[in-house]
Amino acid sequence: LAEKLQNAFAKLRGNQKLTEADVDAALREVRMALLEADVNFKVVKNFIARVKERAMGENILEGLQPAHMVIKFVHEEMIATLSGTDAEGKPLTEAIPLAMASKPPTVLMLCGLQGAGKTTLAGKLAAHLKKLGRQPLLAACDLQRPAAVKQLEVVGGQVKVPVFSQTTGKTPVQVATEAVEFAKQNRLDVVILDTAGRLHVDEALMEELQAIQAQTQPDEILLVLDAMTGQDAVNVATQFNDALSVGGFVLTKVDGDARGGAAISVRAVVGKPIKLVGIGEKMDALEVFHPERMASRILGMGDVLTLIEKAEAAVDEKQAAEMEKKLRGGKFDFEDFLSMQQQMKRLGPLEQLFKLLPGVGTQLKDVDWSVPEKEMAKVEAIIRSMTAKERRSPELINGSRRKRIATGAGVSVQEINQLLNQFEQMRRMMRAMSSGKGMPGMPPMPG
Ligand code: GDP
Ligand code: MG
Repeated sequence: LAEKLQNAFAKLRGNQKLTEADVDAALREVRMALLEADVNFKVVKNFIARVKERAMGENILEGLQPAHMVIKFVHEEMIATLSGTDAEGKPLTEAIPLAMASKPPTVLMLCGLQGAGKTTLAGKLAAHLKKLGRQPLLAACDLQRPAAVKQLEVVGGQVKVPVFSQTTGKTPVQVATEAVEFAKQNRLDVVILDTAGRLHVDEALMEELQAIQAQTQPDEILLVLDAMTGQDAVNVATQFNDALSVGGFVLTKVDGDARGGAAISVRAVVGKPIKLVGIGEKMDALEVFHPERMASRILGMGDVLTLIEKAEAAVDEKQAAEMEKKLRGGKFDFEDFLSMQQQMKRLGPLEQLFKLLPGVGTQLKDVDWSVPEKEMAKVEAIIRSMTAKERRSPELINGSRRKRIATGAGVSVQEINQLLNQFEQMRRMMRAMSSGKGMPGMPPMPG
């Protein structure tokens, strides 16, 4: 009896929906967590409102408490905010995302407040680029602090990259210009400009940086932000972004105690991508930005996230088992097809999925992933243009229905025919398999 009761409760819970009270209670905790992580309070407010809208009335996954379900949406929404997309709306990829000039030298300009980690980053980038087979040059454009030039020379020595440091009697703009010229003459293909910072943003600093930008026309301007900046990060980032053509952010000192709320604040307010993160003082402590990792860190609810993952895996397994039963019984219909596609989509973009397979990533590096993704989107559009009855019984779909579906999905009738044929073939194959005859040339399936 106990087992029966448990099952009944599990079923009940599976069909439970999130109520406004559930959502509000959980989001109160989330609000606290975000503020503690130093996410800007306006960003928090906005974010909470978005999650609330998304979560209300959603089904609660089996095995999860309502609060956990809300956290799941919070986590997803946070990853979406942190990830962002490029100018064409595609998700940012894993490659080191720096703009390179078609005609060398590429000019990378680093800017940010004093102590943010510009000089350290300059060394890390130089080391990274050298590994990629490039010939970088470090340019000492920080003439503000007496020891800054010397510091860059030390860094350059560590990573064995030349440093342009002929600075006596020159302005930062002159140094930057001459460094680019020097690179041209010596066939160095990337110039990294290490600029001066201040304790706070001020007029003189911005004018100096604007002049360097105007004179050297950098291919990429990176704003370096200390992860511990906290609430002020939004103001700093906005001021730099308004004054300069910032291409993206680098968040440093992510190895420290700070939860990194600055990341989500600047991402939400300024809208430019976070490209890299600094995770230590050493010259190889540089990483591509991982939105999932940062989201988990900001949220700081590792246990809950693990729990959610487990619940999701259980649901996937259950769905997969049901799907298999249907496949074998030859009862597979377009509803199942659609939910199979949804399941695949939840795993992420196809490209990333395939990259996870050992040995496949490199072989498929020239594949245009937009083709299969478009194809999947088209199939989904077609199925969504069918009525529920049509999805359950595809044999109903006659000529006039085909025409209607085609119009609804914005495709040709021919494409509908194609899909229906493929689907019919698939079903026939499944029936053959489940009747024990098996596929020609294949051993019969057990069970
Ligand atoms: P700049 O004034 O912007 O040029 O900053 P620096 O590059 O001189 O860095 C200031 C301090 O932060 C130095 O002590 C660096 O070693 C340290 N630092 C820079 N990046 C990181 C990082 O990613 N992690 C840690 N833990 N320290 C860093
Ligand atoms: Mg410096």
